[in-house]
Amino acid sequence: MLLILSPETSAQSEAYKNLIQYIDKLPGVTHREHQVQGQQQTLTEIYLLGDTKAINKEEIAALPGVERAIRISEEYRILGRHKDEKRVTGFSYNGVQFSQDNFNVFAGLCAVDNTKNVETMMQALHKNHLQCTRMGAYKPRTNPYSFQGHGKGCLPWVFELAGKYGIKVIAMEITHESHIDEIHECLQKTGNPTGVLLQIGTRNTQNFELLKAIGRQKTYPSLLKRGFGITLNESLNAAEYLASEGNSNVIFCLRGMKTEAGNPHRNMVDFAHVPVVKRLTRMPVCIDPSHSVGSREADPSGILDVMNVTAQGVVAGANMVLVDFHPAPTEALVDGPQALLMSELEPFLEDIQLCHEIYKKRKEIYNQAKSQVAK
Ligand code: PEP
Ligand code: MN
Repeated sequence: MLLILSPETSAQSEAYKNLIQYIDKLPGVTHREHQVQGQQQTLTEIYLLGDTKAINKEEIAALPGVERAIRISEEYRILGRHKDEKRVTGFSYNGVQFSQDNFNVFAGLCAVDNTKNVETMMQALHKNHLQCTRMGAYKPRTNPYSFQGHGKGCLPWVFELAGKYGIKVIAMEITHESHIDEIHECLQKTGNPTGVLLQIGTRNTQNFELLKAIGRQKTYPSLLKRGFGITLNESLNAAEYLASEGNSNVIFCLRGMKTEAGNPHRNMVDFAHVPVVKRLTRMPVCIDPSHSVGSREADPSGILDVMNVTAQGVVAGANMVLVDFHPAPTEALVDGPQALLMSELEPFLEDIQLCHEIYKKRKEIYNQAKSQVAK
């Protein structure tokens, strides 16, 4: 069972102390607290664990300090929706809002290569009023002899350039928990010119020790890629690992599944799961069309597959797009063949905006139809 406390109930209040006393007396029940950062305030949630079936929901909901009590399933205990429409979705980080109701574009380099390309990218984002980007410094490569990313060496100038162009959040994959400290130290040394969204790649979706390390810190939110060869349920449980350690600021990213059936795409595009993840959990949902499609193939009208699948995900309600761009794809050290060109940024953003408006309009159409049935 989950108790959501009223916002004014502090840990020092009488109501809180009495409530904890009440919980401590429940046989076979333990509790765990969780702070949820809402848009206006921080909410305290208390999870009652163990033998909770016998608890009288109405009685506990009526205790001073308790706003409401929800019966929850074991599945996705913190991140799940549990059929409660009022639960907070998302979070705010470094001035940028992430939720199931809004939308952000993270266009950028798959891998950081040189200052010229990073600066050209960030300049273009700034010109298009974008505050987020993707920049890979630690690259998980299939081949041990391939370029592994510049690692911590590039962080100072990447962060400084981000600050120069007003970039507030960089999605950056980490492959080891020591990278959290490297990023943190560098941000502090450079005076926090930007923020970092810790990306967990598809090869690490079930690296539970990495997930736990990221979940233990509260400074940075995370972006969890779906595992390429496991079920959706297993990937959502991986997200719950982050939350169960204390950090529920998690965005879930669909990036396609590895199967021959997806050919000629690099992965089988799985954006039909956008609404499924939104229904099962409170996480904002991101789509990665670049790693799903993996090429610059186009339809006969000239629209790239990367753009077409982005449209499909956004029309279905995606909250974020993570997409590879490169000023000179032939120079790119990783994934050049799937990168969009700088000249494609503006039309791509226009297309995405249109698709997002269509999603909002679709919601209106169906809600209107529903309210007419109710009349
Ligand atoms: C990436 O986004 O750079 C990446 C490596 O993606 P994935 O983990 O989905 O393959
Ligand atoms: Mn890549």
